[in-house]
Amino acid sequence: MLTPEYLEQLPDAFVSLWQQVEDDILRDIGRRISKMDGITDTAEWQAWRFEQTRALRTDVIKLLAKYSGKSATTIRQLMQSAGIETLASDDARYRAAGLSPSDLNQSTALLNLLNAGYRQTLGTWQNLTGTTANTVARQFENELSRAWLQVSSGAFDYKSAIKRAVDTLSQTMQGVTYPSGHHDTLEVACRRAILTGVNQTAAKLQVARMEEMGCEFVEVTAHAGARPEHATWQGQIYHHGGSITYEGQHYRDFEAATGYGTGAGLCGWNCRHNFYPFFPGLSQPGYTDAELDALNAKEIQYAGQQYSRYEISQMQRSLERKVRAAKKLFIAEDAAGLDTVNAAAKLSNARQKLKQFTHATQRRVDSARLSVYGFGHSQASKAVWAVRHNTLTNTIGHTIIKIKRSAPTGPANGITQKANAKGGIDRNYYGADGKQVKQISNNGHGHKVEEALGRHGEHAHDYWWDENGKPHHLAARELTDKERKENDDIL
Ligand SMILES: [Zn+2]
Repeated sequence: MLTPEYLEQLPDAFVSLWQQVEDDILRDIGRRISKMDGITDTAEWQAWRFEQTRALRTDVIKLLAKYSGKSATTIRQLMQSAGIETLASDDARYRAAGLSPSDLNQSTALLNLLNAGYRQTLGTWQNLTGTTANTVARQFENELSRAWLQVSSGAFDYKSAIKRAVDTLSQTMQGVTYPSGHHDTLEVACRRAILTGVNQTAAKLQVARMEEMGCEFVEVTAHAGARPEHATWQGQIYHHGGSITYEGQHYRDFEAATGYGTGAGLCGWNCRHNFYPFFPGLSQPGYTDAELDALNAKEIQYAGQQYSRYEISQMQRSLERKVRAAKKLFIAEDAAGLDTVNAAAKLSNARQKLKQFTHATQRRVDSARLSVYGFGHSQASKAVWAVRHNTLTNTIGHTIIKIKRSAPTGPANGITQKANAKGGIDRNYYGADGKQVKQISNNGHGHKVEEALGRHGEHAHDYWWDENGKPHHLAARELTDKERKENDDIL
């Protein structure tokens, strides 16, 4: 048996992998849209839009290829651990009933079922992500057209139109198209694909095991907040192979009663129910009527009201979705070189609310659900820095955070700026680990050697860190062409 809690968190590793893909696509989109600025000619615009859409499609295909190996490995691992977990728990019940189930690794039939489940789930996911490049490119193209219309009609200037387009896509981007034409985000689609694929495979193993053991009765798990159609059959005992009266007790047919084997039923789409072998007269029923009723009892107090566990978990999910949405906004705006102060504040605010809520309701923040690639530390701290300080944007659109005191550590992958006490401006560059990698100054601040560099003493220092974690900087050097371009606004 897989518990509802196991199934609830099962897709998390896979979801965070696909959040990375979602974020990478948003960054690509942000960078591309930001370059729309300055195009005025309609023919030139059409050619540009065509080229950008084509390039985005190519990028997405490459990105998906990059993640396909990791995806397959993750699905295989999730499938194997769920298979092992579910049989271990069922086998303990068989042994308690005096039976001796075979070793999973010795059973070709079970291993074949596990493999087939893996291939099917992977295949389903590959078919879905096969629609991603076109799904994304279509929305991108539409949003570009809308932005252009706003600019060319005079309704908006470039900057506002770009911001609107970037913001809209960050919040509404769909990642897959189902055969029915229905769209979903990559995140929602991958959660469903994994949960459904793994739970179905686990169930097939369990049914095969039941048949091997000659067990005819099953008890279905129960969880709070089950959808109404599933709540009617959860937590009860059924007979596998037709309804039956056994020792004076009536048992309904397992499949007919629960819809097991159908998408809408037990172990179907997004279902967190599962089942386990039951031996009448020997096994204790897992749930009494009172316990089933208590699943939805309003036992948690929050802000002066009583809520059920399920209601609280739904409130938490809603706050988590807000954090995720704010993160996506920040990522896309940052990639587009837009001013991220508001997005950073929004993110910080959403995080704060979630933290307060989980604290007040004593629930653990589900970190897997919130982890975003490239965001864990780097973007997060950049966002935190951005919200605490004034920012400006350099020539190529990177956010620069104004600070009063330079430090050897700073915002991961970020740049800070400080007025040098001896004149001029210093810009500090930090690596992914938040350690300073270089400093660029726009004058020689009276230092003899440095004054001789560049046109008026502008120069750079590279930093290195020794094994004791101490920073050192190298002697001043000339700026590269790229550095000049980047810092043109202060040179
Ligand atoms: Zn269910």
